[in-house]
Amino acid sequence: MVTPATQMDFYHREMETLDRIRLRKLQDERLRRLLEAIATNRFYREKFDNAGIEMRNLRSADDLKRLPFTTKEELVAEQQAYPPYGRLHTYPLARYRYLHQTSGTKGKPLKCLDTPEDWESWMRCWGYVYRGAGVSEEDLVFCAFSFGPYLSHWAAIDGARYVGALCLSGGGLSSEQRLRMILDNRCTVLVCTPTYALHLAEVAEGLGLDLYSSDIRTTIHAGEPGASVDTVKRCIEEAWGAKCFDHAGATEVGAWAFDCQAQTRSIHLNELEFIFEVIDSQTGATIDEGIRGELVVTTLARFGMPVLRYRTGDLVELSTEPCECGRTLARITGGVLGRADDMLIVRGVNLYPSAIDNLLRGLPAIVEYEVEIRRIAGMDDLLLKIESRELEPFSQVERAVLAAFRSQLNIRVSVEQAARGSLPRYEFKARRYKRVTG
Ligand SMILES: [Zn+2]
Repeated sequence: MVTPATQMDFYHREMETLDRIRLRKLQDERLRRLLEAIATNRFYREKFDNAGIEMRNLRSADDLKRLPFTTKEELVAEQQAYPPYGRLHTYPLARYRYLHQTSGTKGKPLKCLDTPEDWESWMRCWGYVYRGAGVSEEDLVFCAFSFGPYLSHWAAIDGARYVGALCLSGGGLSSEQRLRMILDNRCTVLVCTPTYALHLAEVAEGLGLDLYSSDIRTTIHAGEPGASVDTVKRCIEEAWGAKCFDHAGATEVGAWAFDCQAQTRSIHLNELEFIFEVIDSQTGATIDEGIRGELVVTTLARFGMPVLRYRTGDLVELSTEPCECGRTLARITGGVLGRADDMLIVRGVNLYPSAIDNLLRGLPAIVEYEVEIRRIAGMDDLLLKIESRELEPFSQVERAVLAAFRSQLNIRVSVEQAARGSLPRYEFKARRYKRVTG
């Protein structure tokens, strides 16, 4: 049963329900405005020159396809060649007010600069995220991200203020302190990674705190695909007695996707602030709707440090079917399905970590897990280290895991018991997959 959409569920109803022809026209106009604004951007000017393209000749989203892709490696290399920020900023540094950086889990961190206007566009994007999840002035948002140079924390907090909600920062605290603050203040919305929402639930169970009957009614997640993975979503909703919403974003791009009340197992692409393409990772060719490919994004409103045709590495399946919520904005089915570079090949079967997460979270005995990957003769071999609830003998848990892998994913894995509390818990992006050599 779908809750009828109310005014509250939209950030900008008229724009979010534009017919797709008008939407495309609007994108084209905004693209032209962007290209005009970034004429002084040295990085893109050089890129356009090298490709033999005159910026003013690009008039529409379709024309954009003539431009080469931008990659993260390219942006990082640019900052190394011209430290500290590369030539990625359009304006003199004095115009910028915000500096963040990526976590650099897969290489050097990327530094990102924002002008006040760029930050406004970030906050608008969060406006869509919060309103899509039904957050209003009545809510008290608790943000459980760490402090630091990472953007998520600051964007989620400022974004909540932007929709008029009261907001409490949960940075720099232990999990127990966070739980007590959530309960004491009667917070209604929790923002964190899916992994951390489950971890908080585990800590609460140990402390005898009842989250199910707490005031939290909505949880909003990012940083990992989890909140669109069926069993992960169900575990979070059952633990917190709340409705769980997904969203997607990246420091160098923005908060580019958001969930809605219709809960269709797919999330909306914010086509008002970005232009999206889905490509074949190998050939770079555009891919049809419904077929899995890599998402490519162009920022329409971040003039200060724009990205054009940026390869996100995120794998998605596009759908422009109208949504039950009334939005005409395209959706990605199942959220972000995985990362192009995270694919495992297990005994000939192509597999993404989200499929393993979906399977393991469906087994209630499992508390936490870690996966060791060994490459043997060009194939990935998986060893699962599992912490279980100790309600049943581990041999029973092991049997259930092996059977589930066999029947759902058609692969054989090895399983090992990990002592309760021995595996790491994560506040931000979980790093459960470890490649081991030898
Ligand atoms: Zn919708």
